[in-house]
Amino acid sequence: MTEQKNDLMEKITSLAKRRGFVYPSSEIYGGFAAVYDFGPYGVELAKNIREAWWEAMVYDHDNIVGLDSAIFMHPKVWEASGHVGGFSDPLAECKECHARVRVDHLLETAGVFADEKMTEAEINALLAEHETKLKCPKCGKSNFTEAKNFNLLVQSNLGNFTGDWDKEPTYLRGETCQGIYVNFKNVLDSSRVKVPFGIAQIGKAFRNEITARQFIFRKREFEQMEMQYFVRPEEAATTYEEWRQKRFQYYIDLGIKPENLRWHEHENLVFYAKAAWDIEYNFPFGFKELEGVHNRSDYDLTQHSKFSGVDLSYRDPQTNEKYIPWIVETSVGLERTFLAVLTDAYVEEKISDTDTRIVLKFPKKLAPVQVAVFPLMKNKPELVEKAREIFTVLKKDFRCEFDDNGNVGKRYRRQDEIGTPYCVTIDFDTIGQGDSSNAEAGDKSLEGTVTVRDRDTMEQKRVKIEELKKYLR
Ligand code: ATP
Repeated sequence: MTEQKNDLMEKITSLAKRRGFVYPSSEIYGGFAAVYDFGPYGVELAKNIREAWWEAMVYDHDNIVGLDSAIFMHPKVWEASGHVGGFSDPLAECKECHARVRVDHLLETAGVFADEKMTEAEINALLAEHETKLKCPKCGKSNFTEAKNFNLLVQSNLGNFTGDWDKEPTYLRGETCQGIYVNFKNVLDSSRVKVPFGIAQIGKAFRNEITARQFIFRKREFEQMEMQYFVRPEEAATTYEEWRQKRFQYYIDLGIKPENLRWHEHENLVFYAKAAWDIEYNFPFGFKELEGVHNRSDYDLTQHSKFSGVDLSYRDPQTNEKYIPWIVETSVGLERTFLAVLTDAYVEEKISDTDTRIVLKFPKKLAPVQVAVFPLMKNKPELVEKAREIFTVLKKDFRCEFDDNGNVGKRYRRQDEIGTPYCVTIDFDTIGQGDSSNAEAGDKSLEGTVTVRDRDTMEQKRVKIEELKKYLR
């Protein structure tokens, strides 16, 4: 089973590269660990995922508004948030091959629970107790240095021209939500919202992740889609449950198979958190965190009030009551959704004794290309002209691709591998010049029709050009 799953990860990674979804960063220089680029189809899939999330959060709620805060913020933001002091993972080194390992993950492989909230001493006690069972993922030996907490914040010299900037670094944000907290008052003062309300944001985040494996699941530069919902303290628990239900349903509505989703409750809560559950997806390497849904109490606004000296409490316009709102957070990575969608869609189908096809059965809403338009032959100007005409009309309503490379069978395979739900072929019958080698030779009733081929069933149907849009919709 595990072998089959590893195999699946390799197949997905290789398809993603071969078909222009995801490339390793700076590949001609040997790559750059845990950084990846989206290719032509990847950028479309990522855009569709962002749009689906934005629609579900912002457009579907009349009390959630958007924000796009900058990647860089005042360094004090990261002190207030606790990231400068405590945003770390336990790092050890294999004494044999010098590979760096994340000790909580290593302990997990032996069924021992540990997490980043434990102290160094607690982690080292577990490491010592279970060391003989723990194998270095690179060389397989069991000989590690003591674990040390390694801070994940990425530093920079932005705005500092002194040459010793690392004494007072600025940070590339480690999470997008801090930009939401520091703009809480701005949004409140400049828009129509009243508690309860939410602020949604999509943007880049950076973390010096210790282990760079598992493809785009754990990147050092990635994108988060986060929504912070501000509520009255006494309503936080109920609101939290509502958001838990909504977020799980969101993935099912997105087209993810329900059997590949499950809940995981955090065993070790940070001191301010009142509840924390993860939605996990069944990735090729097993069930792992896709999204976190957290009840963060009044911690974030209290911390930023303290560190900035600006009162971030809220005055209820009706009751005049003043309080610091509590926050319910939903936080998901764009790339983890991307990988979940790819994994869920990947199918290998035997279509004859000797032939297998790979298909990405994306939900139609997410497919990078929705309709591919083919002239049967590229060297017949009358076919190409008609196909171009149909393409021009369809591209106003659908994401379309014009494809005239190779034979139609090859084009179907390529479109299957990028997950295109429909292929439309323009042939001689379409233009009233039925070819005598064709079974439907010269059938004038086919004039003005095209062949529409369905990705999932591979069925082909003749559809009248004027009914094509309606049919595809
Ligand atoms: P993990 O335990 O897997 O490191 P986390 O608990 O640190 O994740 P959060 O800080 O809660 O993650 O971030 C919220 C979401 O952001 C995660 O659920 C995940 O989808 C995404 N995310 C976090 N770190 C990364 C990363 N390095 N690469 C890609 N996505 C990430």
